Amino acid sequence: MQGKIRVGVSSCLLGNPVRYDGGHKHDRYITDILGKYFDFVPVCPEVECGLPIPREAMRLLGDPETPRLVTSRSGIDLTEKMIGYCHTRVRELEKNDLCAFIFKKDSPSSGLHKVKVYHESGHSKKNGRGFFAAAFTDHFPLLPVEEEGRLNDPGLRENFIEKVFCYYRWKTFLQQKPNYKALINFHTTHKLQLMSHSPKHLSIMGKMVAAGKDIPEETLLTEYQADLMEAMSLKATVKKNVNVLYHISGYFKKLISSDEKNELISLIESYANHKAPLVVPLTLANHFIRKYDASYLQNQTYLEPHPSELMLRNQV
Ligand code: SF4
Repeated sequence: MQGKIRVGVSSCLLGNPVRYDGGHKHDRYITDILGKYFDFVPVCPEVECGLPIPREAMRLLGDPETPRLVTSRSGIDLTEKMIGYCHTRVRELEKNDLCAFIFKKDSPSSGLHKVKVYHESGHSKKNGRGFFAAAFTDHFPLLPVEEEGRLNDPGLRENFIEKVFCYYRWKTFLQQKPNYKALINFHTTHKLQLMSHSPKHLSIMGKMVAAGKDIPEETLLTEYQADLMEAMSLKATVKKNVNVLYHISGYFKKLISSDEKNELISLIESYANHKAPLVVPLTLANHFIRKYDASYLQNQTYLEPHPSELMLRNQV
């Protein structure tokens, strides 16, 4: 990595006192752990659109597809103000070269999933999206996005961070003005990682790259990018990881002793039966890759898709 990965984040999660009540929602995992690798671009839609601190709390009201943003007590309609702000801000953010965004959950401005939408009767359903989160994801459909609350789930956390690092590698790759050969190389190094998310996408993308010589370069890269991010959005389940691990063990067939092979298989089965985390069979596989100098595997991003210091695979 050269420098840190630029990631947008709801400002209150960084500890900035921008909430309606003058407080914040400092998330230590974001600032203290992810902050070692991510350079944060804070965004507070409510303050940036001109509202004061403190301010009246607000909520979504009406149709979940096209809700209004209104203040909770006095019912002031802030919808047009917020829509105008979002329109400008997402375009400004194009210059920031973001690789992801982490949103504050439940907020009528920043929440990404299941934000409460109130009916005139006072009842509510958790089926809305915050105004800024909706505008951002519509404007940057490929960018990895997540809420801070969901980052407490080890599986979702690992998946999101893996996707961020993958997108960062792709953007770095594009900056190098890649040719067809470079795309083949990118695809080759990501094969096992793609397999762990979607064997179907791996197959489609393999065919696309194989036929790529006849496709205009820009079209090829655009289509590859869309499939890459779509594949990475699909969760790498235990079953899919086990499939990849058996693929890895297959490469060793003629290299490792039968004892070593049995040891590896036994750890893969422990992982398959939820008795050991993913890091356990992978650590042994990595040891064999180094010991037997398995060069094809050495370059696979699957083996270290994000810094091992984050210990994300110790919990999945
Ligand atoms: S949730 Fe969003 S709008 Fe609310 S204080 Fe945090 S950053 Fe600002």
